[in-house]
Amino acid sequence: MPRTRLAPSPTGALHLGNARSFLVNWALARQQGWEIVLRVEDLDGPRVKAGANEEAIDVLQWLGIDWDAGPFTQRSDLAPYRAALEQLAAQGDVYPCRCTRKEIEAASLSAPHGDEHELRYPGTCRPATPTPLPPEALEQSGVAWRLRVPDGTTTFIDHVAGEHIHNIAATTGDFLVATKEGLPSYQLAVVVDDARQGIDRIVRGDDLLGSTHRQLLLQHRLGIAPPPAYYHLPLVVGADGRRLAKRHGDSRISLYRDLGVTPERIIGLLAQWCGLGPRRNLSATEFLAAFDLAKLPRQPITFTAQDDAWLRA
Ligand code: GLU
Repeated sequence: MPRTRLAPSPTGALHLGNARSFLVNWALARQQGWEIVLRVEDLDGPRVKAGANEEAIDVLQWLGIDWDAGPFTQRSDLAPYRAALEQLAAQGDVYPCRCTRKEIEAASLSAPHGDEHELRYPGTCRPATPTPLPPEALEQSGVAWRLRVPDGTTTFIDHVAGEHIHNIAATTGDFLVATKEGLPSYQLAVVVDDARQGIDRIVRGDDLLGSTHRQLLLQHRLGIAPPPAYYHLPLVVGADGRRLAKRHGDSRISLYRDLGVTPERIIGLLAQWCGLGPRRNLSATEFLAAFDLAKLPRQPITFTAQDDAWLRA
């Protein structure tokens, strides 16, 4: 049976934008008979707030979203990520990096690149030729590990966004697979987890389209095949056109819940944002019956003051 995952990061509370992605992921899975795994991505370092795992789970349940397996967390067992890193090191695919963020920032000022998730790395520590390293080499403290990225573009076909072409070397360059704190990066953790949890359908915001190319490259280097099918959804943005975030005011689901707004009201707005007609109160079950991927707008959705007022009315 195909398998997908809901992968909230407990770094901040779930807002209307993430909630829409989760609801679409859930509805697609339930319509198509995919199994759903809940994975809380709690490797996000110091930004993870206490109690946030529980809150993310609680909010999903309150909306009426359910799953078949999990919740799984990442921090509780780092061995699978370590094994993947050892494999990459033995193949000469990674190298240690001692650069500070400041140094990388200074270099990227002259050649500004990167994406929302990672600065472009100028290659300062990259050895001239790939150097296979034994597991002991990974014991060095205070070094980060980077993947050697080939030049050139990569392409994949997304089930929502269509053909997507990207140049990893030009965007982020040799990206991080492990941090100086000895933790796997988001890219490595996601690839390892998707593989070991049997995930073959990935639904998420299209801010991660660039990341997908990095994840496909990592899958290839780790011998993980075939790649999952991807569904990248246009994001919900603020009035300034940027991805919905704290700067646009508080759009956390828990805030609305505390104000007495019902899940049906919130799902009603999310349904409108999925192209399902004028907003009206809807339960998760009603949303599921109405959801149609073909109707999903292919452009970003703007969260407006009127939307907020409608929720509170
Ligand atoms: N945890 C990530 C997020 O909340 C999702 C990553 C993914 O879907 O791969 O942005």
